[in-house]
Amino acid sequence: MSGRWIKVALARPMADAFTYAVPAELVGRVDVGHVVLAPLGPVAETGYVVAVLDAPDIDAARVRPIRSLVDPLPAFDADQLDFFRWIADYYMAPLGSVIKTAVPGEVRAKVVRVLEPTEAGIEALTARQLEESVAAVLREIIARPGLTRRGLLRRLVDEQEEEAVEHGLAALLRHEHARWEEREDRGTRARAPTVALAGSVDAALARLPKAGPRQKALLRAVAGAEGPVDVAELVAAHGASAREVLARMVKAGALVRAEREVRDALEDARPLGATQALALNSDQQAALAALTAPGAKGAFLLFGVTGSGKTEVFLGAAQAALERGQQVCVLVPEIGLTPQLVGRFKARFGPDVAVLHSGLTGRDRLAHWRRVRSGEARVLVGARSALFAPFRALGLIVVDEEHDDSYKQDDGVRYNARDLAVVLGRRAGCPVVLASATPSLESWVNARSGRYGLLRLPRRATARPVPTVELVDMTQVERPEGGPRPILAPACVTALRDTFARGGQAMVLYNRRGYATLVECTSCGGSYECPNCGVSMTLHQRAGVVACHYCGLTRPAQEACPACGKPTLEELGKGTERVEEELQALFPEVPIARMDADTTAVRGSLHAMLDDFRAGRTRLLVGTQIIAKGHDFPGVHTAIVVSVDQGFRMPDFRASERTYALLVQLAGRAGRGDVPGRVLVQTWKPDHYALREVGSVEGFLERELRLRQTLRYPPLTRLVLVRLDGVDRPTVQGAARALAAELRRRLAEGVDVLGPSLAALPKMVGRWRYQVILRGQQIGVFRGWLTQIRPLLDQAAGGGVRVTVDVDPRHLM
Ligand code: ADP
Ligand code: ZN
Repeated sequence: MSGRWIKVALARPMADAFTYAVPAELVGRVDVGHVVLAPLGPVAETGYVVAVLDAPDIDAARVRPIRSLVDPLPAFDADQLDFFRWIADYYMAPLGSVIKTAVPGEVRAKVVRVLEPTEAGIEALTARQLEESVAAVLREIIARPGLTRRGLLRRLVDEQEEEAVEHGLAALLRHEHARWEEREDRGTRARAPTVALAGSVDAALARLPKAGPRQKALLRAVAGAEGPVDVAELVAAHGASAREVLARMVKAGALVRAEREVRDALEDARPLGATQALALNSDQQAALAALTAPGAKGAFLLFGVTGSGKTEVFLGAAQAALERGQQVCVLVPEIGLTPQLVGRFKARFGPDVAVLHSGLTGRDRLAHWRRVRSGEARVLVGARSALFAPFRALGLIVVDEEHDDSYKQDDGVRYNARDLAVVLGRRAGCPVVLASATPSLESWVNARSGRYGLLRLPRRATARPVPTVELVDMTQVERPEGGPRPILAPACVTALRDTFARGGQAMVLYNRRGYATLVECTSCGGSYECPNCGVSMTLHQRAGVVACHYCGLTRPAQEACPACGKPTLEELGKGTERVEEELQALFPEVPIARMDADTTAVRGSLHAMLDDFRAGRTRLLVGTQIIAKGHDFPGVHTAIVVSVDQGFRMPDFRASERTYALLVQLAGRAGRGDVPGRVLVQTWKPDHYALREVGSVEGFLERELRLRQTLRYPPLTRLVLVRLDGVDRPTVQGAARALAAELRRRLAEGVDVLGPSLAALPKMVGRWRYQVILRGQQIGVFRGWLTQIRPLLDQAAGGGVRVTVDVDPRHLM
């Protein structure tokens, strides 16, 4: 009989998919795309059905049945599965891991063992038949439904010895005062289990001849309700043992179990005032015409200066797709940072817009995802994983700020959503718009070779042009007699003073957080060093700690040197906290806000800060690169970059590209209102090639491209970064050397192997990091070669060495 066997992909490094049987009651209900709970050894984990078989492809006796269906509706269809397979192949990742990345975490389950009280236990407790130490354990089990063994120990650790708790638990289990129950743990439940009467109350009573008071009470509760009742509600009202009693009543046929879909009030339920499309200027019209031409498909680079009205263009293209009855996917780099863009989509398309981002609760995320699947939501705005939503008829994909590094996932399956958007667009036969004022070199190369359409918006849509960037040469700034060098050059102080005098606002970018990046002892040279990573820890004065910015370890900051104990610590290397302090001293009257990872960690604080700044309650925004992202603040006259040079100095071939983009993006924040803007950039190296091209993005891209050509770096070559890490340095180094040597024995045309070398961050979280870089000149040959050598990469892992493979890495650190 067909449909009895399935192939299930698990998020495991080794195999592709495992064969399972479908239990009789589920035959016919399990198909490709279903999420199932699959046994694996003594436990069970989430698996994804990738094929249905007519006959088992392994010895039928060894095939185990799946435990359950996690969601009665499939999470993906055959088309998407094909896309997932492509991703798994390209990024050299297990198919199950790709699907796990693509499907919301809420459609996942695992089995845990939890403790439940029995009725006998509750009776024994009320009759005071139990020893006090045993009773304490049972009380805890009753009070907290769903406790695991570990949870129980944790809760009682202050009161009893661990041994005593174990002893009490054993006694409870032995006397059946408590029992183990397997529970599916589904993170956030979007479905709630319910029970209802199977027939009439009398019929139920007939099936429960020995019903005690507890069963009767539960029966009354269920009978008194309209429709099914949530099990959780009954447990809350009748105590944890209600679960067991209900189970017996279901077994006797008095009650039936079901599930209810949990629908939350969606975040966007409140309708926003609809906005009309603006009358587009001629550049915008030309771009829109290209995107909406009959049969338009393939990728387009929408290369428009900041404020040129790119958003209006893709709103227009989205409108056209909706009119054709299709769906639209809009990717934004970090949705929390671009609430305005979401607002503009919602204002134009109202409740048709779904939103997916990490700030949502799991339930909301699932609800939005399901609205896309049902076709109810026709526009989805989201961070990179929105690309995997179950669209039914995709008519347009937009990737806003396509150059942004956050499109690349930097752990697990290391995909780049910008690149996958192009792949998905090709599969769906729809246009893909990559928009930026500072295109990535990858997209630029594709646009100039004609592989992507090139749409330009060279002018701002509003009255004022993009301000020109003024370089402030720090080598010409005199150091004040005896004192330390101030953070801002006099020219910048004057510019800020003028701005504030005219009632304007300003932004100051400083790309390092904390107070001091290095605290050093002038007596012994000692400093705070992260014991995990071996780097110096940054002082966060406000919080009174020193922190490692790689692994997050924090320690209290001390007055005295951690090495010699003398009170001679000196703060070196400034961070945003220090910059804020100095600016406040310079402009005591001006309300200042600091925006960086430290001040925006609390949910909602970022929005509050942006609101305050937009409303003019704060007038100077100091911060890291967060402040440069996409915001539209008409009151900003002046933008200042305090230290651009450290960005250029990062040990990464994209350092210039990244720093340049940051400069241009920040400059784009100034002069959006009625007053022309000013942008000042302090530098010690005003002849750096990127700074000389500061007025021409295209000039920079072309220069940078020549450099990459010379150095044989992407986008003119392709890279795969193989990282090996482990606790024991010689072991890791040995494995890296052996791998590189083996790879070199098998080179193909135009392929080379670089390294192994110690990574620029040599040690992180206690693990030494070595890297081997694979480089290919010609994509076809390179991909073929990678397929051949892939087993070597898998084999290199083990024996204390972990191997991660990053295809098209964004960072080589
Ligand atoms: P970008 O996305 O390129 O940075 P936006 O779409 O945010 O640019 O547009 C910048 C500003 O210009 C916005 O305030 C927007 O309302 C305005 N704008 C865009 N297109 C037009 C237009 N055709 N006419 C008038 N104003 C426009
Ligand atoms: Zn660390």
